[in-house]
Amino acid sequence: MGIKSDIRLIDDNGLRIDGRLPNQLRPIKMEVGVLDRADGSAYIEWGGNKIMAAVYGPREAYPKHVQEAEKAIIRARYSMAPFSVDERKRPGPDRRAVELSKVISEALESVIFVEKYPRTSIDVYIEVLQADAGTRVAGITAASLALADAGIPMRDLIVGCAAGKIDGVVVLDLNKEEDNYGEADVPMAILPRTREIALLQMDGDMTYEELTGAIEMAMEAAQTIHKMQIEALKRKYVEVE
Ligand code: ADP
Repeated sequence: MGIKSDIRLIDDNGLRIDGRLPNQLRPIKMEVGVLDRADGSAYIEWGGNKIMAAVYGPREAYPKHVQEAEKAIIRARYSMAPFSVDERKRPGPDRRAVELSKVISEALESVIFVEKYPRTSIDVYIEVLQADAGTRVAGITAASLALADAGIPMRDLIVGCAAGKIDGVVVLDLNKEEDNYGEADVPMAILPRTREIALLQMDGDMTYEELTGAIEMAMEAAQTIHKMQIEALKRKYVEVE
């Protein structure tokens, strides 16, 4: 974010380097129930991102001292494969993965009816196989489908989506070059029905008006992504005549 460069991210026609309009998402594909061993699973391709999400639980939380008498604990683990980025990434958790695991756990906890399952844990594994910016929001979107596939009751499907600012323009869903050379990236997790925000982070700088515009753009996109999630669930669960 914010690396000074002469690279133009928006051309004279107002288009981005991959040909998108400012408020256009990258192509997204989702599939539910892709793993046999997990209680719930989903796979998402979002632009250049390829991410698998798997859910186990609710099951008795272990070790016992982590159990909570009144609710389930949500343990999300975000992990990037060594081959997911240009330069081989050192295997194992780093500070970034620890932070993302924490904020994703909190976002998911805010939609799950955790009080239904005291003393249990719900474990959510997000495995980034290929990364191209926006992995946390794509991961949240897939995790939400995997939770639904596991039959875990939620207030709403949660949708991840980022917006930001490149070449002074507020845009939706930054890709890797835009993330590297742009001015700001704002990943969000949104509850599409109530339009609540379950996660909002910001990297870079924006004015208040720009931030409001970015949030509004992500809210609209969340409705589109939510429809895709429903379609993906229907493809697995509704028999086609
Ligand atoms: P997000 O993927 O949620 O946008 P970041 O903004 O931290 O998270 O990362 C942006 C992108 O930078 C990632 O999607 C990935 O393509 C790349 N990236 C992140 N961490 C590394 C790393 N350790 N090595 C190489 N590239 C990375």
